[in-house]
Amino acid sequence: MAPFDHGPSLDDARLASGRADILDLAGNENAVGASPHVVDAVTRCASEAWRYPDSNCGELGRMIAGRLGIEASRLVFGTGSEALLALIARATIEDGDRVILSSPTFPIYAMLGRSLGGEVIDVPRRADYRLDADAVIQALLRPAKLVFLCNPNNPTGTPVPREHLVAIGRGIGRTGLLIVDEAYHEFAAMEHPGDTLAALDESGADYFVLRTFSKAYALGGFRVGYAIARNPGLADYVHRVRPQFGVSNLAQIAAAAAWQDQEHLTAAVEEIREARTALHRGLVDLGHDVLPSSANFLMVADPDGALAKRLLGEGIIARRVPPDHIRLTVCRMKDVPRVIGAFARTGMD
Ligand code: PMP
Repeated sequence: MAPFDHGPSLDDARLASGRADILDLAGNENAVGASPHVVDAVTRCASEAWRYPDSNCGELGRMIAGRLGIEASRLVFGTGSEALLALIARATIEDGDRVILSSPTFPIYAMLGRSLGGEVIDVPRRADYRLDADAVIQALLRPAKLVFLCNPNNPTGTPVPREHLVAIGRGIGRTGLLIVDEAYHEFAAMEHPGDTLAALDESGADYFVLRTFSKAYALGGFRVGYAIARNPGLADYVHRVRPQFGVSNLAQIAAAAAWQDQEHLTAAVEEIREARTALHRGLVDLGHDVLPSSANFLMVADPDGALAKRLLGEGIIARRVPPDHIRLTVCRMKDVPRVIGAFARTGMD
């Protein structure tokens, strides 16, 4: 195993280049920023931080459960969805368990599977980088403990169609668990918030769907994510292994304020979708091979492996996706001309 490679940080890039105007497009954050109500709410409550937080994130849970139309006892909160992925893996994976995923995808799934002694089965994607659901179902002919699906998938931006969720859910059987990581859900499907849950309920699978406040809600620094379990009994397995005090009280207050400002969320997501279309078109016009994306990033072919380095020379940090792609977080509308200009110059030598 190798440690997670984040590439250069914003500070590293500033120091190395001497430039102050570095555009960090490596982390899939939402540069539109969070609802202004977040700062107000956190400021008002900052003096209460001497208390331990509500271990169950009760108020936030009731808000989320109310809008999703589910029992609050199906929710588990964690310090980001990454922490929840780790807790679910810790609660389930035993030596030799088969863990199915489909690369390229979020590298943490494989790291968790391997570090807990699982056997990671990497099912190849189709030529267009969409999930090969038939191949996943084929792999499930031998029982697996966990299947990780990322919807839409990081780094390809491809969504998992409803019928594939149902079919894979049916294929997993009674001894396996389906993890659907929807960190980028709001960029893809804010108009259909209940769809994945309904599809998975229909499949009969045991599942966790993971969502986060780090991406569309623009609260990555606060570290709040939640898992929606198929039922309260399943949620309980995670409660048994989770730290008692994970999500801080200020983070809970920030997330609640962001959750209540759906108007801001919609406007932010609309700006990012508009910028995604403009960036996609601009890069394709320059001759780049860019995958259609349902998320807030684009996967761009980098056949000679030099694009990320050339962009860094232009003050733009992109994430390398070895061996021959980069992933570029969608920037704000105002920065689109700068990014397209930088790509144009990288092709000039
Ligand atoms: N899942 C996916 C697919 C991600 O891309 C990320 C962050 N890069 C996470 C989970 C973790 O996000 P967080 O812990 O901030 O919720």
